[in-house]
Amino acid sequence: MADVSLWNTALEIIKTKITKQSFDTWFSTIKPLSYDLNSSILTVEVPNKFSKDWIENSHKTLILESLKMIENKDVAFNVLVSDAKQPPLIPESSNTQPIRETKFNASTIIGLSLDPKLIFDNFIVGDSNRFAHGACVAVSEAPAKSYNPVFIYGGVGLGKTHLLHAIGNAIRKSDPSLKIAYLTSEQFLNEMVAAITSGKINDFRNKYRYVDLLMIDDIQFLQGKEGMQEEFFHTFNVLYSANRQILATSDSKPQELKIEERLKSRFEMGLIADIGSPSLELRVAILKKKAETEKVYLSDEICLYISNMEQHDIRKLGGYLTKIIAYSSITKSKISLDLVKECLKDVTPSALERKITIEELKEAVVKYYKLKPSDMVTKKRTQPAAFARQVAMYLTRELTDMSLPEIGQNFGGRDHSTVIHAYDTIAAKIQTDLVLSQELKEIQDLAKQL
Ligand code: ADP
Ligand code: MG
Repeated sequence: MADVSLWNTALEIIKTKITKQSFDTWFSTIKPLSYDLNSSILTVEVPNKFSKDWIENSHKTLILESLKMIENKDVAFNVLVSDAKQPPLIPESSNTQPIRETKFNASTIIGLSLDPKLIFDNFIVGDSNRFAHGACVAVSEAPAKSYNPVFIYGGVGLGKTHLLHAIGNAIRKSDPSLKIAYLTSEQFLNEMVAAITSGKINDFRNKYRYVDLLMIDDIQFLQGKEGMQEEFFHTFNVLYSANRQILATSDSKPQELKIEERLKSRFEMGLIADIGSPSLELRVAILKKKAETEKVYLSDEICLYISNMEQHDIRKLGGYLTKIIAYSSITKSKISLDLVKECLKDVTPSALERKITIEELKEAVVKYYKLKPSDMVTKKRTQPAAFARQVAMYLTRELTDMSLPEIGQNFGGRDHSTVIHAYDTIAAKIQTDLVLSQELKEIQDLAKQL
């Protein structure tokens, strides 16, 4: 059993600072459970949620100050609820065996690796991303001391992932002893499921509950996955009460996500920053910077031409540039406006695209794959209809302004996260599957002719 004399000493201090009544009411029911010397986390138990909230809202500062006074360093204070109806924050086994803390090497990155190219230095700031960028810089300079949690939302290709990597890279450089976890919520889910199946849920929990910085990308994937929301909620609480930094990104703001209210409110209590579509000026600046990194020169005229082909997704702009550079190197010709035009001849400028409707897309997919219209809305998941539906959802998201819930609604009342999953699946496939990427073009053409 861990040494909890720390708590008893803290009580002596606290007693002198609040009224006897308050002390007796709230502090007499607190049961110390463990004090983890490695992570400096003191865990206590209270009888119900109400006590927990009250203690955390009204006495947390006093408690933390008292603990700090005794230990001469910051001690995190973690409150568990013993009420059986409440899901335990830490696995039950922690009462009988000490929390197994994984030992990390300095600068351990848990989860996905960080791309060293995604740094603040090459993130160009404009009006559409200034606030989000500022928040991320602040976090990287003082994790958990400026804004916590931080929630960044915005459309595809606007720089959310770039910012998370930039924070991770900056912290890794400035304080390599900090443990950083970066992962997508999809990976969080996959690992959680694998851990449950193999009976290693405690390992999973310990992995993410003892980090200094947790960054979860694309949290919209949590929607409709209650078990995962629950697990994440507890991870969030453990980290938050231990004063660790939490960041999340999403395609929409917390209020619009279909997730549990308590999780939403956790995010709402922090800093929420959106990233909007980049202005022409910003798009040009980003292209110039990218070209500079690739050591190619782009004239203003060429930059403007490329920037006018895409008004939102910066990933697409980068893709065009890569294509142009490859084309110029293969054909051994200089990057001229003619070469750029030739290279992008199949690209329709995003602003000029005739809006294709979801009905046209569904009809085109049905025709192309020789299916029945009902295959687009059926609940059955049999192939090839399921795949065709994914294609149709992908194209709808790509080519129309419909929101994710609207798209889901139009495909047999499916939820938001199913649409994202379909989108991600197809987006990943077409990276390598040329046949499929050709099919998508043909379907798109077919839809335009309808
Ligand atoms: P998201 O996660 O929002 O979908 P990403 O962070 O993956 O978008 O960004 C897509 C691409 O655009 C990446 O290659 C990223 O480096 C680039 N990018 C986005 N915003 C900027 C910016 N402000 N400056 C430079 N590059 C950017
Ligand atoms: Mg991203």
